[in-house]
Amino acid sequence: MEGVPQRCELCETRIPPGRARCPGCGKVYGEENRCPACHGITAVREVDRGRYVCAACSAPRTRGPRTPLDSDFAQELSRKSLRNRVLSYVFFPVGGGLAAMGATILAMGQAWLEGAWSAFTSGIGGVMLATGAVGLYVATRAMRSAKELRGRATDQQLKLSVQRAEGGLTVADAAMEARVSAQDADARLTALAKAGEVHLDVDEAGTLRYRVVDPDADALEQVELEAEAMGLERER
Ligand SMILES: [Zn+2]
Ligand SMILES: [Zn+2]
Repeated sequence: MEGVPQRCELCETRIPPGRARCPGCGKVYGEENRCPACHGITAVREVDRGRYVCAACSAPRTRGPRTPLDSDFAQELSRKSLRNRVLSYVFFPVGGGLAAMGATILAMGQAWLEGAWSAFTSGIGGVMLATGAVGLYVATRAMRSAKELRGRATDQQLKLSVQRAEGGLTVADAAMEARVSAQDADARLTALAKAGEVHLDVDEAGTLRYRVVDPDADALEQVELEAEAMGLERER
């Protein structure tokens, strides 16, 4: 497809042929995914059966054969996380059992047997111990990766919820939609706001609300800040 690089421009993950979205960071590519309204290359959101809008600006869009849905990426991360979790659940007991058995055989071979029998038995125990250790290592890596992917999936889900909520989203609502604890949602949304991925507002009642980052508003704010800074300079 036109406009899809082999490696993601943001995170350098390889993009499989025929795909228009980076599996690493979720960035969407391809000229056919350019929104006629906001001109961004974006995913679409299904608002009704077969009716789609731009995930960024909510203008009506048609969905091409390789136009990703906005919720695809969070689901893909969740699936990968689950796969790694299952892998770790299999490898922990298998690796642990093998390592324990290997260690026992090795110790018995050393303590009770002599000569060639001792070497033979210890050798078998040693190989089992090493294989078990590799299994435990794989299990640990898979568990760590599952946790990391789970966190990223939650971030995606939180961002989606914020994008979909008109007038901003409270932490409690976001937690409910992403199915995480309010504490977790709070911590993750704070981090997302710091990274500039969502915007934090306080309404008149003092309630914190997260909303989508409005590039125009933020640019304006920046200009105002700069103007202010220059004004101060002039006064000096
Ligand atoms: Zn990427
Ligand atoms: Zn758009």
